[in-house]
Amino acid sequence: MDFELTRLQKEVQKKAREFALREFSKETALELDESYTFPHAIWKKACRSGLVGVHFAREYGGQGWGVTENILIVEELCRGDSGIGIALSLADFSSEVVLRFGSPEQKQKVLIPVARGESISAGAYTEPDHGSDITLLFTTATKQGDFFVINGTKTFITNGTCADFFVVLCQTDPDAKPSYRGQCTLLVEKGTKGFTATEIKPKMGIRMTSTAQLSFSDTKVPLSNLIGEEGKGFYQVLEFFDESRIEIAAQALGVSQGAFDRALDYVKNRRQFGKKLIDFQTTQHKLAEMATKIETARLLTYKAAWNYDQKRIDPKLTSMAKMHAGRTAVEVTEEAVELLGGYGYLNEYEVERFYRDAKITEIYEGTREIQKNTIASYLTGKHK
Ligand SMILES: Cc1cc2nc3c(=O)[nH]c(=O)nc-3n(C[C@H](O)[C@H](O)[C@H](O)COP(=O)(O)OP(=O)(O)OC[C@H]3O[C@@H](n4cnc5c(N)ncnc54)[C@H](O)[C@@H]3O)c2cc1C
Repeated sequence: MDFELTRLQKEVQKKAREFALREFSKETALELDESYTFPHAIWKKACRSGLVGVHFAREYGGQGWGVTENILIVEELCRGDSGIGIALSLADFSSEVVLRFGSPEQKQKVLIPVARGESISAGAYTEPDHGSDITLLFTTATKQGDFFVINGTKTFITNGTCADFFVVLCQTDPDAKPSYRGQCTLLVEKGTKGFTATEIKPKMGIRMTSTAQLSFSDTKVPLSNLIGEEGKGFYQVLEFFDESRIEIAAQALGVSQGAFDRALDYVKNRRQFGKKLIDFQTTQHKLAEMATKIETARLLTYKAAWNYDQKRIDPKLTSMAKMHAGRTAVEVTEEAVELLGGYGYLNEYEVERFYRDAKITEIYEGTREIQKNTIASYLTGKHK
């Protein structure tokens, strides 16, 4: 057993940490959060610094690194700032579906601009009536000549109003039994006729990331926009979740650590009853519990990433990491607000934003209950 990061991993971690310290500021984060604005300038710099798409092959603009290197970056960026970090880490959301299943032409077209900071990606799976359960979809894609014609609505789509292309999960065969065998993923580009995106807000957190409702009305895309094979879309998305859930766990981990750092800093300076807050044993116990939860989440997340990179895909472990890290983020950020007292409730003291940004890590990419269902299905052998 070896719990050490490799030299490369330590370097990557340091680079991401230094980037966040240099490029993020409290003032910018407050402004972007309040105005629901994507951190465009910082995202461009992050791409130029080689911090986005590092897990893409070199020929497609990446560094050819693994999920582990990628999640170390995500953790550090989210530690630097929950809102900016999450927005940057989701800028390449769902490109992995193209990376894993796309044709060489699709990879060239899609992945290189994403890694260069010239394009933002999105993945559209959820529908108004199908969230946790995407085994049957109302968004249909029908073949007509050289095109698929898409009709339907997707909701809660991250990067919806700013993405340049979307991976859209559609039902191609509504009569397939079981229904999920009749699905496919299609690439849809921004500006395609019959396709519109409408921002959904106000919302609790991750306000620098757009969340949108997508509408498809006789939207035509060429047959060549099919990713992989027809009938395999559902399976592709599940495989994508095996990786993306580890990334969400890393977001949660970074948000937890960032809130902890700020709370620790605060209690070292704030005085009440003639002592510093850190000198109360209650405060020390709170810090000890927060740090223990974070470390447990880190171990699970790193192990899930390491397993993935060893090609030992383990959906049970991935779900454990996401579920535990997400819960940790909510609990640790809440405790951080508590440690700052009334100041913790003000935007200016940052932990307020970390608290709001934490909750989503328990919702998207499968809720806590869905992670438990996955874990239980592997424990009981029902996944087969
Ligand atoms: C800000 C934001 C960004 C998002 N980004 C994206 C995106 O980029 N792409 C995308 O496709 N989707 C995205 N989503 C959607 C997200 O993945 C779904 O909201 C989530 O999967 C839950 O689906 P739902 O909202 O329909 O809730 P429901 O599925 O209706 O669930 C409601 C409640 O019932 C519980 N529940 C459901 N089924 C079961 C069950 N079998 N057993 C026990 N409990 C159950 C759930 O855990 C939950 O507590 C995003 C959502 C948000 C809020």
